Amino acid sequence: MVRRRLFEECASLLEKSGIEDARFDTSCIFEDVLEERHPLFSPQEEVPPEKEQIIRSLIERRSEGYPLQYLLGKWEFFGYPFAVGEGVLIPRPDTETVCELALEICRREELGSPKIADLCSGSGCLAVTLKKELPEAQVTAVELSERALPFLKENIKLNSADVRIVQGDVTDPVLAAELTGLDMIVSNPPYLTAEEMASLQTEVSYEPAMALDGGRDGLEFYRAIAKIWRSSLKEGGWICFELGDKQHADVGKILAENGFENITFRRDLAGIVRGAAAKRSGGPNYGKEGTC
Ligand code: GLN
Repeated sequence: MVRRRLFEECASLLEKSGIEDARFDTSCIFEDVLEERHPLFSPQEEVPPEKEQIIRSLIERRSEGYPLQYLLGKWEFFGYPFAVGEGVLIPRPDTETVCELALEICRREELGSPKIADLCSGSGCLAVTLKKELPEAQVTAVELSERALPFLKENIKLNSADVRIVQGDVTDPVLAAELTGLDMIVSNPPYLTAEEMASLQTEVSYEPAMALDGGRDGLEFYRAIAKIWRSSLKEGGWICFELGDKQHADVGKILAENGFENITFRRDLAGIVRGAAAKRSGGPNYGKEGTC
């Protein structure tokens, strides 16, 4: 079958299955399987039967709501390639907003060779991108999941980024006490509420619950990180969080209660307040002895 005909068949199958960006997804699958940037520039070229079979099986899987990014096994974030698959959250444009915010702060504050920790690193999209954009930075990626670690390692290698991995639980104070003198903490923690977890979009239901589940009100990781990791930051160090929809007021409050100031927010391309940044205020024992 020629490329154009196969393409139309596949795209309309996805459309009928209710896949939102049916033509885009079909293009991505064609590019991947035919290993060409613009396969439809040669619409009358025959698709070899074995490739047609691969395309059809990927389209079928996609029509069931399986994420395109997992089917391709790779996805781009901030212009860098990332290996993805079940076990890691798919890097999203929302997180690019947080990455920009973190980069802006590092540049504005003239943090020459900042010590950065990425908490709940997952695929490593934040840690790796920050290292690529700030080559002098010392970046540590903290991740607990056994299933995520191989992806994190692969992405560090794929991008030749010198990022250190620490496997551990970000809610463990002992771990936080081991990582000190940080100029910046970045984190896209799990932030969905119990209610949201109970009604996930089909695609999202294939992503690891561990990367999504933020407890009953979705805020558990913000509370833990703001409290436990504050003293891992230098005085005047910064924290940058990704936020879920409508969480900014609550996260702002959590940050203020835990001794952070200069709290600012950033909207993503959809207009949702997606990023929060705040500075560690003075006083080494904030929250413990009430020194601030
Ligand atoms: N952005 C993801 C979603 O809306 C959630 C990611 C997270 O919990 N950090 O499904």
